[in-house]
Amino acid sequence: MRKIVLICLCLIFSLSSFAQKDKITLVKDGKSDYVIVIPKYKRNKFAANVEKVKYATDLLQKDIYKVTGCLIPIVDDDSKPRKKEICIGYTSRGENFYLTPGFVYTGGRYRYWIEKDKLYIQGTNFNFNNNFDIYAVVDFLEKEVGIRKFSPDCEIYPQKKTLIIELGKDYPIVYIPENTYRQVRSVFTRENKDFRYWLKQHLQEDMFAEGFFVHTFEKLVPRAIYFETHPEYFSLINGKRMHDQLCLSNEDVFKIVVERLREEMKKQPEAKVWSVSQNDNFSYCSCPECQKKNEREDSPSGALIEFVNRVAREFPNKTISTLAYQYSRKAPKYIKPEKNVQIMLCTIEEDRNKTIEEASQNALRKNPNAQTFAKDIQAWGKITKNIFLWDYNVDFAYSVSPFPNFHVIKPNLKFFMDNNAFQHFQQANSEQGHEFAELKTYLISKLLWDINASQDSIINEFLQGYYGKASEFIRQYIDTLQYFGQNSKVFLDIYAPPTNYSKTFLSKDKIDIYSSIFDKAEEAVKADSVYLLRVRTARLPLWFAIMEIGKADMFGERGWYSKNAEGKFILRKYMSQMLEDFYSTCFNAKVRNLNENNLLPIEYYKSTKRFIEISVENNVAFEKKVISLPNPSPLYSEGNMSTITNGVRGDSEFKIHWLGWHGVDFSLVLDLEQVVSNKTIKLSSLYSPKSWILHPSRVECFVSKDGLEYVSVGNVEIGDIQKYEDIIKEYVFSPKDIDYRYVKFEVKGTKTLPSWHPSEGGTSWVFLDEIIVE
Ligand SMILES: [Zn+2]
Repeated sequence: MRKIVLICLCLIFSLSSFAQKDKITLVKDGKSDYVIVIPKYKRNKFAANVEKVKYATDLLQKDIYKVTGCLIPIVDDDSKPRKKEICIGYTSRGENFYLTPGFVYTGGRYRYWIEKDKLYIQGTNFNFNNNFDIYAVVDFLEKEVGIRKFSPDCEIYPQKKTLIIELGKDYPIVYIPENTYRQVRSVFTRENKDFRYWLKQHLQEDMFAEGFFVHTFEKLVPRAIYFETHPEYFSLINGKRMHDQLCLSNEDVFKIVVERLREEMKKQPEAKVWSVSQNDNFSYCSCPECQKKNEREDSPSGALIEFVNRVAREFPNKTISTLAYQYSRKAPKYIKPEKNVQIMLCTIEEDRNKTIEEASQNALRKNPNAQTFAKDIQAWGKITKNIFLWDYNVDFAYSVSPFPNFHVIKPNLKFFMDNNAFQHFQQANSEQGHEFAELKTYLISKLLWDINASQDSIINEFLQGYYGKASEFIRQYIDTLQYFGQNSKVFLDIYAPPTNYSKTFLSKDKIDIYSSIFDKAEEAVKADSVYLLRVRTARLPLWFAIMEIGKADMFGERGWYSKNAEGKFILRKYMSQMLEDFYSTCFNAKVRNLNENNLLPIEYYKSTKRFIEISVENNVAFEKKVISLPNPSPLYSEGNMSTITNGVRGDSEFKIHWLGWHGVDFSLVLDLEQVVSNKTIKLSSLYSPKSWILHPSRVECFVSKDGLEYVSVGNVEIGDIQKYEDIIKEYVFSPKDIDYRYVKFEVKGTKTLPSWHPSEGGTSWVFLDEIIVE
């Protein structure tokens, strides 16, 4: 690929020596002698549709107007040629940028140049790369006019009455991006076409048939239709046919898949790429036939690639995409994917604090036989050029939390490209309020377009445009966080909470440093509400980390409460103010969610409020002993039973301050150490079905004076279905006119996940928190 780029550039440079002029005045003192010329018809198979050229033309006209105040008229190429014209796309005027004969190329490219007072801007378009006239205009506006668009609401137009275009010794400008598919998953590009074009980004539907992106086995051979009558179509696992995956050696399965694809392709004849890929689990077929293929190829990808190759041969004009993911990530030893097979590789397991290459070298030093991602992509890169790389630069579970991974972004992209991956799906922070979401979208898009661009320059330019006078402090924050993050050498996990780093790059002294940098940043832009909101939005992750670490250490040095001289617990004012600042900034910045599970800022605010309202003063259960039979799992709150009476309620997040019981019924007995009456007894449970946590099926409460004879004082029945439930449910019992010292709860779990759940039949959890008696 690189070689081809060079040859092409040399060819163009040699042509350029014939150019006579390299300087034109498009606008002088707010007036222009120029017209913009567009093609009336599509004149070449590599030309874009007229509507795309029209978009490019309108963009050029509008943006030059915003810079100069001059609206250059647009005419089509049936009009009489004039001396001064800007010709966009394949017009009838002059030289066209044609495809070199015999030149095999799968992406797109563009060129712009000046000739005899005329400016030509042209793209060559191919396949799902049909926006190159637009990209040519975008780069012209960016490089030659000086416009910047950092986010949909941050566009910078230099102001000049006279616009001179000078294409120096580099002209004509030709660009062929190495990466043929570029997608950073982001709400900014998904919802804003103009911004998507500006960053030269793709959407999934540009490449994939609708409904055929990944995990399609179930769609192609549905278990509901076939499993009962033909269990042999499905994977043999531990001697039993399971519907988890397909048996890829079964001839009927092949026929059904091909037939089904043929039907679907009739519905979407334009769609180029169709996924035939494993379901999202760890199982694969171990029948003698499949096993033979996998053993021969030394990887479970053996049977898979053999199957997908056969399917691909049935559809020579389409591309069949398949996942090399988890069990199938290792490349087969002998078999090679067909030319029209796309291998989709995922980096889900990797540490984001190290480059993929570095992580691999470390692992291989410890164990030369370790199966690292780097080894896998190198092996795939040797047998195919059609690799689609699915990479992660995000903390999914805590999108609004510090995630210092800037140092791995460019080296990883480069490494993928060095191993023949030129199609990229980058999952980064993608929505308003997520850590540096606009910056990461902008940066990764720029690098996907040109991997040789300087990451530092891109970041600095962005910061200056986006944060104004606060930019130097934001840069300082990024660098400081990066420095401590990298030096900590901790595993930067795409699902980890900030509490994981509370002793490393989020330790108290380091948090204090970050906070003082942000104080200065806010001070620098306090007079400008737009910049100030952006700075405070950038501060959300830091506030979030401080609040979450505080929840894990409620009464400690970093906690929400301090103890006064009389031994009373007092809420720290700066902590409660931080929650208010956090919520109001989320509100003003239109933050929609805080993670991929769609946690709303208002839910976080309310549950944190609830969490920090400790029940100490009138709560006679405070710090009293509770015995559980059987014990809770040691995985949550270390299974420490004192958690349930320490005055602190559980958070909306299951990892914070909850006790969990896995697939069992259980009882809890609380000894109040005194006889009481006419008090209210409370207990709460959590609902988080994505994490396999359901409310109990039933809770019954009993009281007793002597711990031997118990009287029931009420029960709550929820049942086992629980499709839609409140995140937190409180069970309230108010026994009247009974003296008691002991309180007992009999808790019945649902034990398994119900039929509506994607993991039906899996073992469910019950999560309980604070018992309060007041
Ligand atoms: Zn099989």
